Amino acid sequence: MWIANARLRGQEGTWDVCIEEGIFKTIQPSADNRAAEYDAQGRLLCSPFVEGHIHLDYAHTARKPRPNLSGTLFEAIEIWAERKQAGLNHPEEIRRNALSAIRAAVSHGVSFIRSHVDVTDPELVALRTMLRVREEVKPWCTVQLVAFPQNGIEAFPRGRELMDEAMRLGADVVGGIPHLEHTREDGVASVRYVFDLAEKYGALIDIHCDEIDDEQSRYLEVMAAETLRRQMQGRVTVSHAVAMAYYQPGYMAKLLPKLRAAGLGFVINPNENLQLQGRGFDAPQPRGVAPVRTLAEWGFPVGFGQDSIEDPWYPLGDGNPIRNLDTGLHVAQMLTEDYLNRCLDFVTTEPARNLGLMEEYGIEVGKPAHCIVLDATCDREVVQQHPLILLSLYGGKKILERQPTVTNWSIDVAD
Ligand SMILES: [Zn+2]
Repeated sequence: MWIANARLRGQEGTWDVCIEEGIFKTIQPSADNRAAEYDAQGRLLCSPFVEGHIHLDYAHTARKPRPNLSGTLFEAIEIWAERKQAGLNHPEEIRRNALSAIRAAVSHGVSFIRSHVDVTDPELVALRTMLRVREEVKPWCTVQLVAFPQNGIEAFPRGRELMDEAMRLGADVVGGIPHLEHTREDGVASVRYVFDLAEKYGALIDIHCDEIDDEQSRYLEVMAAETLRRQMQGRVTVSHAVAMAYYQPGYMAKLLPKLRAAGLGFVINPNENLQLQGRGFDAPQPRGVAPVRTLAEWGFPVGFGQDSIEDPWYPLGDGNPIRNLDTGLHVAQMLTEDYLNRCLDFVTTEPARNLGLMEEYGIEVGKPAHCIVLDATCDREVVQQHPLILLSLYGGKKILERQPTVTNWSIDVAD
């Protein structure tokens, strides 16, 4: 298959890309009269988006059993516990909702998803269901599952056993939530246990870390210390890191070099945390989103994530990474030339690095032909215009194709 006349990120001119047996075979400057199956007509061909943080087992559960009236994170967690106690998490419903969320993301150009799955459930219903969904969608989307202890590891009955059982059953990544354990010490113990499990199963780590408006919440430094101690650099992702937004300059000056030495990756969920955080303060109201610009300037991989699609935590969300990219760039005041010219990194290569995908990810000869064509020509235009995804290939297989929208004016508009 030939894709002709495509623009590539960071390259001048247009290119013809040949795909054979699911692999990028050749990439060469556009030649006239090439018989191509797809003419990109100067549009951008890039790697598919990577959704680095979502909860597929929560998707489309908002208002069931009840709406989140305060809109706070803590009420959402209460509602979720009520939902589990009421036995509302049926495997068929979880599967149907998760598939709907995966389809929504894929329709917006995503081909790789990391989903946290709640394992604070004695029956592990959601995890068992999501393991099946992961296999079901394998031909068209890669899904990684994180064993995620929503109600804590130390704080939940048999929390450690359930985490171990989830990894034994086949979860890909070990998760945690230290700031919601009962005490500071329990939080530290939970982080160490997460690292123990990751060593035992040779798994990656992705912890919901310090997702709280509390400058005393300092599990990030514990994550960095454990990563260094166990030489797990490049295998550990921090999700949220909200408390970082509240740290004083003196502490940041100590913390940032340690984080860098530990080679941590970050995923920040700007829409969700703008909704959940920074409440209960007098004006001026904090934003409660980790300092993305500082993290980017320090060279950390930073991905922007969706976190939720219509669940007790967040009532909106449509799986479109560009919305989170747009919000993230705004909240971090990153609408500068440098960042706008490379902003797709935050929803492509940077989260791909966090997910450990780099061997197979990228538009390069010899790699699997995962790619999308956008109705835009460059990074800045993508975030400005939220263009349609016109083509999506996964391992060379066509997943979807769309026609560009056409507007027919009924009045005389000047050109
Ligand atoms: Zn989350």
